[in-house]
Amino acid sequence: MNETVREILAFVEENDIKFIRLAFCDSFGMQKNISIMPDELERAFQHGISFDASAIRGFMGVERSDLFLQPDPGTLSILPWRPMQGRVARFFCNIRYPDGRPFEGDGRFILKNAVQRCADMGYTCRIGAECEFYLFQLNEDGEPVLVPHDKGGYFDISPLDKGENVRREICLTLEEMGLRPESSHHEQGPGQNEIDFHYGDACTAADDLITFKSVVKAISLRNGLFASFLPKPFADQSGSGLHINISLSRDGENLFQNLEEEGSVAASFIAGVLDRAAEITAFLNPLTNSYARFGAFEAPRFIAWSRMNRAQLVRIPATSSGEHSRMEVRSPDPACNPYLAYTLLLEAGMEGIAQGKQLGPAMDFDPYAPGARVEGLPKLPATLEEALALAGGSEFVRRVLPQTVVDKYLEFKSAQAHRVAQAEDRAAMERELYFL
Ligand code: GLU
Ligand code: MG
Ligand code: MG
Repeated sequence: MNETVREILAFVEENDIKFIRLAFCDSFGMQKNISIMPDELERAFQHGISFDASAIRGFMGVERSDLFLQPDPGTLSILPWRPMQGRVARFFCNIRYPDGRPFEGDGRFILKNAVQRCADMGYTCRIGAECEFYLFQLNEDGEPVLVPHDKGGYFDISPLDKGENVRREICLTLEEMGLRPESSHHEQGPGQNEIDFHYGDACTAADDLITFKSVVKAISLRNGLFASFLPKPFADQSGSGLHINISLSRDGENLFQNLEEEGSVAASFIAGVLDRAAEITAFLNPLTNSYARFGAFEAPRFIAWSRMNRAQLVRIPATSSGEHSRMEVRSPDPACNPYLAYTLLLEAGMEGIAQGKQLGPAMDFDPYAPGARVEGLPKLPATLEEALALAGGSEFVRRVLPQTVVDKYLEFKSAQAHRVAQAEDRAAMERELYFL
């Protein structure tokens, strides 16, 4: 038994941990887990715990369905909303074949490979996500209803803002779990909220987003509310975005500081992301409902960048300077699988650097203002069907993600898009499928 495993077993015993959740995500970013008792933990570290991968969306057929979960020791967290006696802890896991080879459909494995390629080129990347969500009421059966928790708007205070206690509890819980919440506020829509937490390396950032979403869900429910990450719950209200802030450094120097310089690496990175934006959108915006968000309430429609303008796909925030320099990608939404989304963004940016792509001029105007000159500007796909067709035909997507992952993803998403298209009441079908 190695030292780390010994330390973890001791920690489990000393902290009265009785249940250990082995967690991972399916190909669509939904967290899954199995709970094991402490006596099984050593075996989990050594051999892994088997599960039926044919029952996980996007993974495998029934023919070869045994895969193994191996806890990643660095991801141990106690779940503070579970009982304090006989506590519950959680690990994110690496997924392996019975012979020990990594499973190529494991999002963490895919992202770690991308991070490694980035490191091989000499770069370190940091990612910080800003996640928006709506709080809805529950009916007497405890089922969510499409009635927002309050009528508050951007930065409102109590009594208009009824989310202050839930956000407070969410922030404290995140802290207990080792995340660093930085700020929280009421967002534009009624019942809409945002909580931002500290950036990290790409894989930690993706793990943290999965943790964040489960904390938001659990704490909201404990407060009699349903938290939804649906990108566009109301046609005429602000959508929920997942802005992804990316920075890149080399030898400890943040390269986004030098964006204005001739031949800037950061500019090529941005150009790379913009070039591939349309074909990776099916992975950044995975629901039919995602596409209702584009083009209004500060969500982008055009593939352009700007220094300040919140309507563009890539923005360089005003707070971005010195070591905080970064780009903000504004199109993704919280329904995406962050492991795949971060992989595609990183690889697109790296490709931009490798090919020395040139960044076009900034679009510092409001593209939605009457008379705005937007003819000829490239656009994000307008529907999930269009996005899936672009992804399916993309040599880049097929180069960056494993073939089986792409095929299963597109097949499943096309079937969902078809169900929504056939539905008599499209909005009701979207809620049934996606009120995640
Ligand atoms: N809710 C907007 C979106 O859908 C973003 C608003 C903001 O900049 O915080 O992306
Ligand atoms: Mg926001
Ligand atoms: Mg933002």
